[in-house]
Order: sequence, then structure tokens, then C-alpha cells
Amino acid sequence: MKLFLSVDMEGISGIVDTSYINPDSGVNYQRGRQFMTTDTNAVIEAALESGVTEILVSDSHNTMNNILWESLHPKAKLLAGSPRDSSMVHGLDESFDAAMFIGYHTRQGIPGVLSHTMSGVIRNMYINGQIVGEFGFNAAYAGMYNVPVVMVSGDNLIAKEASELIPGIHTAIVKEAVSRTAAICLSREEATAELKRQTALALGNVKQIQPYHTALPLELAIEFSHAGQAEFAAIVPGSRYETETNTVYYNAANQQDMYTTMRAMLNLAGGAEFF
Ligand SMILES: [Zn+2]
Repeated sequence: MKLFLSVDMEGISGIVDTSYINPDSGVNYQRGRQFMTTDTNAVIEAALESGVTEILVSDSHNTMNNILWESLHPKAKLLAGSPRDSSMVHGLDESFDAAMFIGYHTRQGIPGVLSHTMSGVIRNMYINGQIVGEFGFNAAYAGMYNVPVVMVSGDNLIAKEASELIPGIHTAIVKEAVSRTAAICLSREEATAELKRQTALALGNVKQIQPYHTALPLELAIEFSHAGQAEFAAIVPGSRYETETNTVYYNAANQQDMYTTMRAMLNLAGGAEFF
């Protein structure tokens, strides 16, 4: 059995605010990298005990160079660095039996530890009218390859967001959100145990969890924070800017096309000045 792990940072055990996820923030960021590596190793250990033979770990936060390569479990391979065409889920294809999203967080504009969608420019994102955050967007990409996302780890609120999109998904809840930058965290030992427990349960249930299928063609809609961002995003050929809602629409041929177009829009929008 072959397993794909996309590992973000905001939902990692013990991480509660930006000091742990920002490379410029010093000692807490270095601790955050260790927490991220330890969470990932817990999942890898349980996966190998459950019959998984091949694991690709995608470092999926910021510049995607956070996991401590030298401390990662020797049986896993690490995809590190950026850019990548399919960003957080690059390398995932039909050869994988299952995917897990580790250290994930809720979407922009709702409660949850460090909630956001991709970058600060997105207010809301929709696929075929369904609102999605990073979890849903990446799950749709996995769905293109018929790969089910069988487990998510993070706070109690990403567990809820994920369960609403993928019934039966296993959730390793390592912290309870108190505010966007505060949480009640399990101890290191309990978090590791919960990650291992849910990994084993999820891998015993792969056939019961459906891939997140989205009908083709895909309508991608991104509502931006301000008009200047939307105007830049609408440079993408084939897109349509709806000024009343500050939303840019794009009809994608498939999830790969949707992913690269989303990245193009974000990069363009990021260049818009506000003040
Ligand atoms: Zn992140």
C-alpha cells in the first residue's frame, strides 16, 4: 500500500500562533519544525505498522522547507521546496492508495487556529459553488486520481470542516481551538498516540472512504479581499471578473488546470498594492 502525506504547519500539535510557523520568528519556528517532524513520524510509524510499504511526504507550508529532513523517518521520502505545479499535493497520482492531510487548518474567515485559505488575498474560494478551504481544494485534486483522503489532523474545527466534505474521514484532533491564535493542546505524548491511533484506524478503512469527486468542468470562483487583487487575478486568460462580488471565475478542464490557475491568480493578486 502506498500513502501520500501532505503536511501543513498550522494544525500541528503544540502550534497555536504565527511565532511557530514564520521562518523569521526565531526559536518558536525552530520548535515548530520539530513538532511538525514528530507529528509526521508518528503517522509514518503507524502507517508502516498497518501495512503501508511506500510513503511520500509533501512539506506543504510556506516555502515548503520546514520538515527536518535529517530527523524524518528513514522509510519515507520527502518532497521539499517550491514552487511546484500542484503545490501542497504535488506528486500525488493514481499510484497512491490513500492520502492524509496532516497539520491542516480551517478555511479563511471562520474560527480555528490560524484559519486562512492559501494566502491573505482570498476571502472565499468555491469549486462548483461549494465553499472550500485548503482541505477541500487539495481533496478535490486527490479526487481527480480517485485517491481518498482518509485522515486529517489539526484542531477540532478542521476536523469538522473535513468531516462535512468527506463523510467517515478519520480525524486526529491534537488541540481545541480557543481563538484564532490560542488553543488547548494535548501533551506531546497524547498527541503522538492520537495520531498513531487514527492513522491505524484510517488505513483499516480505506475502502469505506470515498474520494472527494467534483463534477467536470470545474467552476473555480475566488472572492478576493479587495478589488485591486481581483483586477490583477482577472489577467488570467479565460477568467471573468464579477465586480459586484469582487469574484473572479474560471472554468477549468480538470483539477490540475484548476490548481495551476488558482496559483497564477494568487501570484498576480499578491502584486496588488492596497496602501
Ligand atoms: Zn501553512
